[in-house]
Amino acid sequence: MDINEFREFGHAAIEFLIEYLETIRDRPVLPDVQPGFLQEHMPSEMPEQPESWQEIMEDLKKYIVPGLTHWQSPRFHAFYPSQTSFPSIIGEMLTAGIGVVGFNWMCSPAATELEVIVMDWLGKFLNLPEHFLPSGKGNGGGIIQGSASESILVAVLAAREEKVREMKIKRPDLSESDVRSKLVGYGSIHSNSAIEKSGLLSATKIRLLDADDTSILRGETVQKAIEDDIANGLIPFVCITTIGTTGTCAFDNMEEIGPILKKYNVWMHIDAAYAGAAFCLPEYAHIKKGAEYGDSINFNLHKWMLVNFDCAAMWIKDAAKLTKSFNVERIYLDHKYQGESKAPDYRHWQLALGRRFRSLRVWITFRTYGQEYIRNYLRKHINLAGMFLNYVNKDDRFEETGQSLALAYFRLKGDDSLTRKLLDRINTRRNIYLIPAFYHNKVIIRFVICGLDPQEKDIDYAWNEVKTVTDELLAEMEAEKNKIPAINEIEAEIENLEITDKVNVITENFAKSITLCEEKTVH
Ligand SMILES: *Cc1c(COP(=O)(O)O)cnc(C)c1O
Repeated sequence: MDINEFREFGHAAIEFLIEYLETIRDRPVLPDVQPGFLQEHMPSEMPEQPESWQEIMEDLKKYIVPGLTHWQSPRFHAFYPSQTSFPSIIGEMLTAGIGVVGFNWMCSPAATELEVIVMDWLGKFLNLPEHFLPSGKGNGGGIIQGSASESILVAVLAAREEKVREMKIKRPDLSESDVRSKLVGYGSIHSNSAIEKSGLLSATKIRLLDADDTSILRGETVQKAIEDDIANGLIPFVCITTIGTTGTCAFDNMEEIGPILKKYNVWMHIDAAYAGAAFCLPEYAHIKKGAEYGDSINFNLHKWMLVNFDCAAMWIKDAAKLTKSFNVERIYLDHKYQGESKAPDYRHWQLALGRRFRSLRVWITFRTYGQEYIRNYLRKHINLAGMFLNYVNKDDRFEETGQSLALAYFRLKGDDSLTRKLLDRINTRRNIYLIPAFYHNKVIIRFVICGLDPQEKDIDYAWNEVKTVTDELLAEMEAEKNKIPAINEIEAEIENLEITDKVNVITENFAKSITLCEEKTVH
């Protein structure tokens, strides 16, 4: 491909995106394909000879697009959002075009410095405690990781190494491997799967503690776990508090947990992957109460702040603790400014050596929108979730309804199987996409505002879909209840029953037929 073809392909790609995003609402949000669908259309070997971009674009439209789940559709209400935006798309393109990798300052000074700047902007915008800010008085710093999972793993590893260093002094009788084998960390039973995985990957025990009736991890639970573990000779080293659980977007009580962790010198990490966006709203200041106890925190810009995947912000109170834990020197990685606080070598702050120039997308997106727009954008999503909740609340067939930020939830009264059936049917229709969670030990359905440009009409659409399927399902259940089975069906049903149960089934069906006969005579 030469530069002229690049120009043509580039323009065509933008035109394709414009068309795709403009009409995204009109496509079923879930695809209608079976596993292996793509193999039928693809050659088994990569092409030997070049193919034209026109052919490739055609196949993209013909074979790839039909196999997509449309995450940018406003009819996508599953998981949490993974939004994009026009400036972020451009930023992604420019990043790929510039193509730099910034593992140390010298590799691309602007990449490192822009990251320090946007992480400071963002920290201030989210009203984070000052100790996290690169411009704060202490040793705070921010980095953009690829995912919340990596950020949590980095925090857990840093906490682990910090505890090992501390114990070397406090308990010289213990070897390093003795200390490591006794380490124990904590999270809530409602924490994201990434918390459990961080335990597996760091080879440390992470205990998932019970939360209260509203899915919130409480101070006394953490205190008891720490005291029990210490009594059993273990060494508590980290606790991950979740601000915005995946099920119902509950907020662990950091004000209670923080002082306890401080007392036992346990690292507090805050996982605010989704809900962290709302830290910028003064009316939600309460959800970050206790964040001042945090040693590290993560928040995904790629969820609810207009920057496309992957873009996961992480701040740490004492950046030296990362460098101390993950510093591996090589002669080819040295440069003359290393160790300067204005020129962090981000390779010490992350798992990989190479790293994307993610801050460019953030910088372009933040400058394009500005603070006020972003605040109002979040408020709009919260209001849309409220609008959906209102519909559900007015219908007395639903229960366990609630809302936290732009997530609403509900269930059908009755057995879990009924709510599961409703969800299955909704997703089979492919018009909207929802997923389940547990609340109060029952299955609930989550409804999250996602997509590029959700509007009130999309909420009406979704509610109509939920209502239609509910009407249908309940009507069928009612009909099923009143149906009198054929004699051979009854025979099959009672074949292996005890005699009293046999009699019961027959009597029930007999009573049903009498009622039905009566109804028929009346009409
Ligand atoms: C989404 C989410 C995660 C996982 O995020 P990744 O960036 O995909 O690793 C972790 N924790 C919480 C609370 C989340 O909402």
